[in-house]
Amino acid sequence: MNTSDKNSPFAEDTRLIHAGRAPEKFGGAVNIPPFRASTVLFPTLAALDAYDPALRSVRYGRTGNPSSHAFEAAMTELEEGHDAVSFASGLQAITSSLLAFTRQGDHVLIADTAYAPTRGFANGILSRAGVTVEYFDPAIGAGITGLLRPTTRIVFLESPGSLTFEVQDVPAIVTAVSAANADIVLMIDNTWAAGLLFKPLNHGVHVSIQSATKYVGGHSDASLGVAICARQDHWMRLKKAAVELGACASADDLFLGLRGLRSLPVRMRRHHESGIKVARWLETRAEVTRVRHPALSTCPGHDLWTRDFTGACGLFAFEMAAVPRAALAAMVDGMAHFGMGYSWGGFESLILPSNPAPIRTAKPWAGGELIRLHIGLEDADDLMSDLDAGFDRLNAALEAR
Ligand SMILES: *Cc1c(COP(=O)(O)O)cnc(C)c1O
Repeated sequence: MNTSDKNSPFAEDTRLIHAGRAPEKFGGAVNIPPFRASTVLFPTLAALDAYDPALRSVRYGRTGNPSSHAFEAAMTELEEGHDAVSFASGLQAITSSLLAFTRQGDHVLIADTAYAPTRGFANGILSRAGVTVEYFDPAIGAGITGLLRPTTRIVFLESPGSLTFEVQDVPAIVTAVSAANADIVLMIDNTWAAGLLFKPLNHGVHVSIQSATKYVGGHSDASLGVAICARQDHWMRLKKAAVELGACASADDLFLGLRGLRSLPVRMRRHHESGIKVARWLETRAEVTRVRHPALSTCPGHDLWTRDFTGACGLFAFEMAAVPRAALAAMVDGMAHFGMGYSWGGFESLILPSNPAPIRTAKPWAGGELIRLHIGLEDADDLMSDLDAGFDRLNAALEAR
């Protein structure tokens, strides 16, 4: 049991410095060394016979070890939960959580904002296992009651959506679902908030899932996922599923996750500040038709973000009038600071054109193609100059046609 110390007199920044550490157990070292081990030796037959089969014991590297236990304790502290299970990736945390609580004949509701690979799994393996998957309008709020069936087992949220940034009314959805059927497991992909800007478990969500590959790792060099549970019975069920599936995180990535976590609040304040600065600047640009950032009043769910979140990360998107692919290439191919690539949450800025239209099914995408930005830890003025030069290249390409 890793229950977080919500009643600690210390501020969150302070608690996250201590979370999961145990210098006295590791020769005084500040950090838990990566525990690279498959075999764990039992000194005697008596010890083997007496070994504790509890899910949190150390008996074989894959099923839990000092690295995973430390990371899970720290993430439980961050998300103010009961206990956590670590995974090799965010997607593995999501797929294992969906599998752990469903069986043939069940019905699962997923927000239309969900990360595309989450939908890929739900439409693929989960559907083939006989689970009915249905997507819902992220703005549904308490109206979710109308979609519940006697067979509904999971309601899965992602707020804000990591591509389109609509914010959901999580408290209203949780209240409505729990009142209708207390057995339904409420899950959220909390990667955008990094567990820091929004605390879903304090709003009645049962399982908060993160790709720690993103902000927790924070340096674009680890693949790591985690699911934090509010209840012991849910944790037991999920941990048992992880053991059955053979799902586990590598010791080196757990080490990097723990190391990244120490500076998460500081990095996040900078992502917040620079992200909003760049978003507001983009709003003034003639080329930009709309900025989709939850901190801006034009973003669907902005009021909910103001009510429920303590800040923003560096990930948002903007829209432009449709331009030929070659003109777009002239803009994005020549960036000095923005790299083009998937993922986000590292120290560096990224730019990624993407179109949500083919992904959405419950509520057709009313906007245009998006250019998603991750605002990293560079100087914000340098980033705006880079985008400014990009717009110049775009305009020159449009004029040259
Ligand atoms: C990246 C991402 C994931 C998957 O994480 P991996 O660690 O890459 O598997 C899940 N959800 C969201 C919102 C993401 O951005």
